[in-house]
Amino acid sequence: MEVKVYHCPSCGGSIEDTNSKFCKYCGSKLNFEDENLHKYKIETIDHAKVINETTKAETSKTKLKIYGFILIALLIFIAFSTVVLIFSKSEVVQVMMVGIIGLSFMLTMVILFTLLTNSNH
Ligand SMILES: [Zn+2]
Repeated sequence: MEVKVYHCPSCGGSIEDTNSKFCKYCGSKLNFEDENLHKYKIETIDHAKVINETTKAETSKTKLKIYGFILIALLIFIAFSTVVLIFSKSEVVQVMMVGIIGLSFMLTMVILFTLLTNSNH
């Protein structure tokens, strides 16, 4: 559904009622005859689009929360693995931990990169 909103040429205030003779914000005389219409900056508001954009913003907020949670979990996991790596005396465990830390670190970087590129849109 689309709604047309006219703007007062003097103050830019929105005019809902095209039958009104004066701007309710600044009191300027209004004339909505066809030959004068171009003076009024017309803004078309697409309500469906507005709702869509609000939903989009909410979705990206949820996404950010999920990414943030994954990042924190990864960082805790990396810290935990590092502790295991430092205190472990088994070489097999050490090699495994280095691999796991490397993978987690790469994953962290990928998520950070995704977050940074997403926030540009
Ligand atoms: Zn005005």
